Amino acid sequence: MELFDSHCHIDFEHFDDDRDDVFGRMQEAGVSRIMAVAVELEQTERLTRLVEARDNVWFSVGVHPNHEVKQEPTVEKICGLAQHEKCVAIGETGMDFFRTHVDAKVQEHRFRTHIRAAHLLNKPVIVHMRDADDVCLRILKEEQIADCGGIMHCFSSNWEAASQALDMGMSISFSGNVTFKRNDELREVAGKVPDESILIETDSPYLAPVPLRGKRNEPTFVQHVAQCIADVRHTPLQDLATLTTRNACQRFHITQS
Ligand SMILES: [Zn+2]
Ligand SMILES: [Zn+2]
Repeated sequence: MELFDSHCHIDFEHFDDDRDDVFGRMQEAGVSRIMAVAVELEQTERLTRLVEARDNVWFSVGVHPNHEVKQEPTVEKICGLAQHEKCVAIGETGMDFFRTHVDAKVQEHRFRTHIRAAHLLNKPVIVHMRDADDVCLRILKEEQIADCGGIMHCFSSNWEAASQALDMGMSISFSGNVTFKRNDELREVAGKVPDESILIETDSPYLAPVPLRGKRNEPTFVQHVAQCIADVRHTPLQDLATLTTRNACQRFHITQS
């Protein structure tokens, strides 16, 4: 079995003490590829070192919508940092009104800047949407996201929002919260997303899936997300793994050997 964790933060300090062990466990569990997602531009150098040392990790360049920074990213700055051959996406970016460390107007400007850079680079955008569906989907539409494509990461909304995103050609990625007991509606959404548009992720170190909820999350645990989604889609785990890995490789323009 081969699984692709399409969104994790493996370079975070949460893994500084045992990163090699984390990669070892991944390998054993069949998690053969991961995407290390950025939340600030200052991370780019660290991510570059990581992907150069490991052939199963790719990375993105971007600034999280709710991350406070001294200098706002510009299109030029993002494009300049995203030249590495293993930088295969832009983000994570988007809109987040759950916490508001960053003013809505600033988030919006930042989000549009990322999408414009992604167009120039022809790379998909990793979108973080939390408690901000209307404005987030509107911006995606206005900025013509379909031209470069993207991923609704850690999708946590309803079918209405999912279908609007799907209509714009977005992929929908599910994380550990799809396994949480109360999230029947989200599982229903995961059951309805078309085959060619579904991805899985951990968003580790956050959001560990059931039965490991509350622990530090790690890419290995994406197998629990995969199992949950395989169940709601009435498909064998093996097939769901093959499907989501192929989708992730296509979305990130990674040649699957
Ligand atoms: Zn996020
Ligand atoms: Zn994230």
